Amino acid sequence: MTTLTGTSTRTITGYIVTLLEYPRWLIEREVDFTDCHLSGDFDAEDTQCRDCHFGEACDWLNTNRSEPTLNSPLPDLLHALQTSVQYVRSDARSAPQHDRHCDCDTCAWLHEATNFLRTQRHKT
Ligand SMILES: [Zn+2]
Repeated sequence: MTTLTGTSTRTITGYIVTLLEYPRWLIEREVDFTDCHLSGDFDAEDTQCRDCHFGEACDWLNTNRSEPTLNSPLPDLLHALQTSVQYVRSDARSAPQHDRHCDCDTCAWLHEATNFLRTQRHKT
């Protein structure tokens, strides 16, 4: 039986911090600010931002500007993980090769992150 105090918090936190490395790398690699009128400074009120192809990824990067650490609050980490799962999943769905049997890094990550979030849902 694990509790959300002491050692297991550090373990869960460390696990999420590690899990978040992949989507951050993926999103940073994908987003291109070359033609951005705001140089990547996402503005939800801006029409260009709303229509932008990179909007969702850019929004995530701006929300999670600093890299997560072991001192980040757990709800923040879980939220960052949930939103990155949504992003990576919708991104993967737009490519036909990522079907149920795909075992690329992205699909493996999605599988692991989704399973982890499912276990967390029962505890909160
Ligand atoms: Zn895949």
